[in-house]
Amino acid sequence: MERPCPICDVPLLFMERYPWAVCNECAEDTVTRDLQPISFYNESHWGGFLSIVNGSRGTSHDCYIRGIPCYAEEARFGGIVVSRILDGSKQAILEAEAPDPLKDQCAESTRDAEGEGVESVCEGPTDRSEDP
Ligand SMILES: [Zn+2]
Repeated sequence: MERPCPICDVPLLFMERYPWAVCNECAEDTVTRDLQPISFYNESHWGGFLSIVNGSRGTSHDCYIRGIPCYAEEARFGGIVVSRILDGSKQAILEAEAPDPLKDQCAESTRDAEGEGVESVCEGPTDRSEDP
């Protein structure tokens, strides 16, 4: 299955886990907000994430490709994936990294109770009686 690179439209293999991943060439064009070239690496052979700007190591995930906001992360099976950020895709990336079932439940109930003035359902796990 293929889909176009979200930056330059070349055909790319579609990865379900990284639906907005950019192609390798775009991933080499990353810059910071100040237009300094930024590159991303695994910290070691067994993973980890680091970014390098002007020879300085950091942990910044945010970058830009041709002025388009993107997000770099450690790929699940090694290496680095750079994805374009659009329509909440960054949020999707973050949730995929750290699933939070309670938060999902909360989002559901908020949606169901839309306009009913029950925002307080999201304030905390006050009702634990049905938990195992
Ligand atoms: Zn591209």
